[in-house]
Amino acid sequence: MARARLTIDLDAIASNWRALASIAGPRVETAAVLKADAYGLGADRVGPALAAAGARSFFVALAEEGAALRAALGPGPSIRVLGGLMPGDAALCREATLTPCLNSPAQLAEFEAELPGARCALQIDSGMRRLGFAPAELTACAGRLRALRPDLVMSHLACADVPGHPCNAVQLDRFTEGSALFPGVPRSLAATPGTLLGPAWHFDLVRPGIGLFGGLPFAAALPVVRLALPVIQTRAVAPGEPVGYGAAWTAERPSVVATVSGGYADGLLRAIASGGVALYAGETACPLIGRVSMDLLTVDVTDLAEVPAELEILNAHQGVDDLARAAGTIGYEILTSLGDRYERVYKGAASRLDPA
Ligand SMILES: *Cc1c(COP(=O)(O)O)cnc(C)c1O
Repeated sequence: MARARLTIDLDAIASNWRALASIAGPRVETAAVLKADAYGLGADRVGPALAAAGARSFFVALAEEGAALRAALGPGPSIRVLGGLMPGDAALCREATLTPCLNSPAQLAEFEAELPGARCALQIDSGMRRLGFAPAELTACAGRLRALRPDLVMSHLACADVPGHPCNAVQLDRFTEGSALFPGVPRSLAATPGTLLGPAWHFDLVRPGIGLFGGLPFAAALPVVRLALPVIQTRAVAPGEPVGYGAAWTAERPSVVATVSGGYADGLLRAIASGGVALYAGETACPLIGRVSMDLLTVDVTDLAEVPAELEILNAHQGVDDLARAAGTIGYEILTSLGDRYERVYKGAASRLDPA
């Protein structure tokens, strides 16, 4: 095995989408958020797999991502750009039939000037204070915005991963109030965490991202990624001998240490070293030891009868949220950090769909 191999299960992604769609129920549309190249897993493969599963609406962060996704999906599905209409994006939006989510009076003016007659969505700020029309801006611009006939009015929750957080109810009220200025326009408030909060949060369309890819807070998600790292070398280490940068680990018994290909340049964050992470030989957990290097990890394989050609760091036993916990971050960051040096293998029936 020459290269580290990231296996992405497209059927598991489709199945997670269907599970979220059944939580949202038949009267609510379930979209798919594929920003940052589908959370690092490849929008050109994930998009068609989800379209085959029934998804008709997609969201990306940037117009460039939208154009790439359009090439993979073909002309049918809606692709909305969460960052909205940024300067210079109009041509790309027109060519790739992207729907910008207008976020501000400046974006509204740009849209009126550059894309008359095109489709838009509208994002209102219900309390996250990141993107979207603030309440006063919304009131001031409501007439012009209505004239554009937006196909969605949306907002985003800041604290939905904490059910009962007081910000959630405040945002729900502000969204209900703001969206009432656009009667008849479909409404959307929930990403994955909001979808899990319950029907009051679903409105007409839910927008899950991380839940599709096996990350918390959708604890019932099927795992989607498997990451196998080749063993480059093994060596015997005597008690008292240190391993790796900073001599951060020292053998306490006669040990066998495997050096595997994969490091922080591949998204295996340096901070995971102190978090009780293991690499797996089949079912057997072998502790990650010493520091994480740019391209290499060291693993205590003393207890294995035989060292396999590869060890897994992500699988059904240890998921992206386990690595995230070890590194003091979130599964989203682990997924989107997985680097481009991996051989990427897509599995599942959906993997036989050719990218358009
Ligand atoms: C990223 C994002 C989503 C998807 O969020 P998840 O937590 O990954 O489900 C939905 N809406 C907006 C505006 C986002 O930025």
